[in-house]
Amino acid sequence: ASSLAGCGIVSNSAAENNAQGTAKGADDGKIVIGMSLDTLKEERWQKDRDIFKAKVEELGGEVKVLAANGDDATQLSQAEQLISQGVDVLVVVAHNAEATAPIVEKAHKEGIKVIAYDRMINNAEVDYYISFDNVRVGELQAQAVVDQAPNGNIVYIGGADTDNNAHMFKEGAMNVLKPLEEKGDIKIVYDQFSKDWKPEEALKNMENALTANGNDIQGVVAANDGTAGGSIQALNAQGMAGKIPVSGQDADLAAVQRIAEGTQLMTVYKPIKLIAHTAAEMAMAAAKGEEVKADKTVNNGKIDVPSVLLDPIPVNKDNLNVLIEDGFHKLEDIYKNIP
Ligand code: BGC
Repeated sequence: ASSLAGCGIVSNSAAENNAQGTAKGADDGKIVIGMSLDTLKEERWQKDRDIFKAKVEELGGEVKVLAANGDDATQLSQAEQLISQGVDVLVVVAHNAEATAPIVEKAHKEGIKVIAYDRMINNAEVDYYISFDNVRVGELQAQAVVDQAPNGNIVYIGGADTDNNAHMFKEGAMNVLKPLEEKGDIKIVYDQFSKDWKPEEALKNMENALTANGNDIQGVVAANDGTAGGSIQALNAQGMAGKIPVSGQDADLAAVQRIAEGTQLMTVYKPIKLIAHTAAEMAMAAAKGEEVKADKTVNNGKIDVPSVLLDPIPVNKDNLNVLIEDGFHKLEDIYKNIP
């Protein structure tokens, strides 16, 4: 449920906004933040949206959200809509790292700053980037898998080729896997992206990996919980679910249940409250023309983007309590399928 309802838009004029120093997006002078999401498919994005919106509101602003269903053209036109409605700042979760670059240019023409949220927009003058240390995410995933499977055939089931993060997760995983392969301990026998992060694509990839290797596979580094789910389904069909380690990411409820049951080894928890709250503060500060705290920079092919990178947390069956203590999941939900 995206909310474009009750949009009290006054000014499309960037010149006017800029002249006032402080941009004004709505009749009542309230700051309006536009949020352009790739998708709401994975569980996390609904949390990102809800927590971000609540925090902006707490800080006195309002948020207009549009989600593009994984379609580049839709994301571009939705971002244009938000820009023409005169939002003060645009927060973008890019479906496609390259195809979203024109959004930045269009926003800047109207004096609107752009924050890349969780996923970088490449080759564009992005104002700020907030994410997790995504290379680290990949390292954590691969390390957990090879700790369990120090010798043998390892499969890499990647995310969406179009998502810059998927490349960073893979880079991190390969930082761990390649040296072990060079030592002769392991062999990377399969390595493919999964289109649009779809679990069914991951399932097909995993089936292919199993077939190509006569089921002789000792570990699976899956880039997120959705792709882990698809991979585990393929393993299950061969009676291998729970027998070899599979990584994931996001601490989706279904994945955390699989960890409790033993079919998934681990997930990488990224506290959504932290990224959403920090992004909300950054967006409000940017809208008011105040200083935006960003202690790092990340190069996106065009510029060094001022960035905030948060720490990911590996979670397996021994520290699931982290999720409960953080209010991310309820104990009874995690164990509800376990007698
Ligand atoms: C995010 C992951 C998410 C994936 C699929 C990535 O860019 O960092 O948390 O699982 O997209 O939505």
